[in-house]
Amino acid sequence: MKENGEKLSETAFRGMLDALSDGESPGREGWCRWLTALDEGQDARLRARAAEVSRRHFGYGVYIRGLIEISSYCRNNCYYCGLRHSNRFASRYRLSREEVLDCCREGARAGFSTFVLQGGEDGVQDDAWVAGTVEAIREEFPAHAITLSVGERSEAAYRSFREAGADRYLLRHETRNDVHYACLHPAEMSGARRRECLRVLKSLGYQTGAGMMVGTPGQTVDCLLDDLAFLEELEPEMIGMGPFLPAAHTPFAHCPAGSAALTLRLVALMRLRFPRALIPATTALATLDGQGRVAAILGGANVVMPNLSPSGVREKYAIYDHKACQGGESAEGVRQLEQELRSIGYHIDYGRGDYV
Ligand code: SAH
Repeated sequence: MKENGEKLSETAFRGMLDALSDGESPGREGWCRWLTALDEGQDARLRARAAEVSRRHFGYGVYIRGLIEISSYCRNNCYYCGLRHSNRFASRYRLSREEVLDCCREGARAGFSTFVLQGGEDGVQDDAWVAGTVEAIREEFPAHAITLSVGERSEAAYRSFREAGADRYLLRHETRNDVHYACLHPAEMSGARRRECLRVLKSLGYQTGAGMMVGTPGQTVDCLLDDLAFLEELEPEMIGMGPFLPAAHTPFAHCPAGSAALTLRLVALMRLRFPRALIPATTALATLDGQGRVAAILGGANVVMPNLSPSGVREKYAIYDHKACQGGESAEGVRQLEQELRSIGYHIDYGRGDYV
């Protein structure tokens, strides 16, 4: 993605920043300027303003979500993902319900009050299995938040998960542009279906997370403008954005990674446009750039998702290469994160961190 060279005057920039901070949508042309016309100093001021807004709503606290990667089996064949069905080199595993519960127990001991169950679309962990697992977690942890991220399911399935006690659902739309969607997915997958899932999730009362990868092959400024328009229409409670990272043995194995700077800019813009949204400093960003997590928090992100998966499977959940897996053990990981946050004046907020 290229900067267009047309620089903004100081007055124009200040006007844009104030308008966005007042909750005004810049519209497509305005968003385009935000994405392409900032110089470094303006970028830094945008991010500082986003952090200010984040602190106004959340203070210096950063919410943590314990990520449990429940299965690396997947029926789908997304071109970017290391867990795609056709990847014969992917290591496959699935956790049993008891193993998932053990992860929750360890997480609860380490102070987590949200568990995120994420996995491929595994035919064995079918709708009934997911609902039963949520029910078992809910029974043992009545006050914890349960987030699911197990892909596209039927409305009936989403309803049963909700009735079993799930509170939140993460399902990135990946890209709102259908031509681009078709560059990233085989013909049997559809962006429209994914968006329909997101609408169903919202209507069922889930706190819903959408979002996109930044810098996937074929992504243009126009695609990102479509994404921003879609997010404005959906108004998700959570917005997950991370750079595309190549995964071995996928069609995109040799494509360049997305840009950390552009990801950070999008984080800041989304913070200003959606002041109360839950926006993670993603693992993909931390993987691309060792300072990525801290930079995201200093630019408007307010959530981190440490890994609670059993250490033996973390490497196998290889959606992209060289995934940053901090801390072999969750309590230790939390301590390290606490230190990292303290070093920039922030701290862990151990609350549930619901959208309010
Ligand atoms: N099966 C679930 C979970 C997918 S993994 C689902 O379909 O929602 C969670 C997210 O990781 C995906 O939505 C995608 O945005 C991101 N991801 C997958 N492969 C990636 C890659 N190679 N680089 C960066 N992010 C990737």
